Amino acid sequence: MQISTTPNPTPVDDARLAEILAAPGFGTYFTDHMLTVEWTPEEGWHAGRITPYGPLTLDPATAVLHYAQEIFEGMKAYRHADGSVWLFRPEANAERMARSSARLALPVLDPADFVATVDALVRADERWVPDAEGEKSLYLRPFMFASETFLGVRPSQHVTYMVIASPAGAYFKGGVKPVSLWLTEEYTRAGRGGMGAAKTGGNYASSLVAQQEASAHGCDQVVFLDAQEGRYVEELGGMNMYFVHADGSISTPETGTILEGITRSSIIELAGKLGHQVRERKFTIDEWRDGVTSGDIVEVFACGTAAVVTPVGSLKWAGGDVPSATGDAEGGPVTTMIRQALVDIQYGRAEDTFGWMHRVV
Ligand SMILES: *Cc1c(COP(=O)(O)O)cnc(C)c1O
Repeated sequence: MQISTTPNPTPVDDARLAEILAAPGFGTYFTDHMLTVEWTPEEGWHAGRITPYGPLTLDPATAVLHYAQEIFEGMKAYRHADGSVWLFRPEANAERMARSSARLALPVLDPADFVATVDALVRADERWVPDAEGEKSLYLRPFMFASETFLGVRPSQHVTYMVIASPAGAYFKGGVKPVSLWLTEEYTRAGRGGMGAAKTGGNYASSLVAQQEASAHGCDQVVFLDAQEGRYVEELGGMNMYFVHADGSISTPETGTILEGITRSSIIELAGKLGHQVRERKFTIDEWRDGVTSGDIVEVFACGTAAVVTPVGSLKWAGGDVPSATGDAEGGPVTTMIRQALVDIQYGRAEDTFGWMHRVV
């Protein structure tokens, strides 16, 4: 894939950049450049370019604004102590984006081109990758949307793929803290044959009201059950779930409608290597409640690119609650060990025996 570059004539100056990287937060600041590629049925993917970061001009009839034909990815670039810059399993993001494309009737971007575009933007904006200290990173957001100006309902005949980047601070400031969960019995995120396994904005749009419900009940995040029977734990709005049993084995929900996180799949391999038996299976809400009561479930955690691993505290719903499996502790020993092992690989502090890391700079 050809990618032309038009450098930003007025990049953020060094003093301001240092200020931003000292406290980047999440999703607030964007780098000096963005990457764009267009697709049409006649030309395929073309017009790849890196240009100064800035607003898009869209016709009000642009299809994505009406029918939400769009998908995205989320990944991070990490700086190691020697100054080099790395991505974590970008091929896995590329393959997931290809699967999301298929579900949303969008054209597939070749996984090698996906990785090349992300590499290209990270190289262009390398100075925006924060130092290794404090679990900072450069968050990358590849996305693809229906950019044809047409109100008819059919797969868009013009598609735009972009990559933007935003420096990200540590997810947990002042130590890892458990999240409290609200179990929604009113809303589901994905049904059989739906889009649950695709990373698409529509899934997030439908989760917001449930998240509002969670906040109204004093909980940090919402947990969804399967749409069919309302018994099986699926996931949070944007994180997958794990349950640690007293015998050291680990369960993670598998229902066919969850979004399979790259963090989730990495933990399956990592925990296996650390000697834990890991099972992907259906996991009922009763098993959660009874397991915490009986002592069979000793730790619960959630995982995703943003937080890596988050201990889960208490669970509440309209008719009851389940206390934290670890009491008041800041996450149990297995949760803490898995989190540390993953973060150490990502920041180059531990040997990457899985071949997960991809060097960019
Ligand atoms: C992105 C996402 C996750 C986590 O995936 P990672 O690849 O681990 O970041 C989990 N659930 C949903 C719904 C998601 O969109």
